[in-house]
Order: sequence, then structure tokens, then C-alpha cells
Amino acid sequence: MVESLASSSLESETKGVPMKVTVDFDVCASTGACTQVAPEVFEVRSDGYLYILIEEPGEELRDKVTQAADLCPTAAITIEG
Ligand code: SF4
Repeated sequence: MVESLASSSLESETKGVPMKVTVDFDVCASTGACTQVAPEVFEVRSDGYLYILIEEPGEELRDKVTQAADLCPTAAITIEG
């Protein structure tokens, strides 16, 4: 007799949720470190401010965005999802 212990409720909660990138601009020092590793998502413009180019990047950018958050000297980057 085989019993199934599988529950799909947790799976359905975690799948299909897009990653969301936010920056706390109060603490961002516009160092540009994040733009070096994830230029698709972050850009420091000539006005000296950081801009988020893609607020909900695809999974293919998760590694880069995570690396950017790790490298940020002021821990300004938050990733949800
Ligand atoms: S690495 Fe951090 S402090 Fe530097 S520009 Fe990006 S968010 Fe701002």
C-alpha cells in the first residue's frame, strides 16, 4: 500500500510569483556597484541618481540581481519573491 504525502498547496504558493526589486533611495549612495553586475536592471544616470530599469525582472536575471544586492555597500536593494 502506497500512501501519498504530497501536498501541492505550498508549491502553488511559491510558483509563478515574479521577483520584485526595490531600492531604498534614502540609503542608496549611487556607487554604481549594482549597475556593474546587473546593468539590465540598474542604471546610474548623469543626474547622479540610481534608476531601476526593470522592477520585476525575469528569473534569468535573478542571479545578477541577487549579486547586486549582496554587493551593495549600503544594503539598499531588496528582492521580494
Ligand atoms: S550598489 Fe547600492 S548604493 Fe550603489 S548604486 Fe546600487 S543600490 Fe545604490
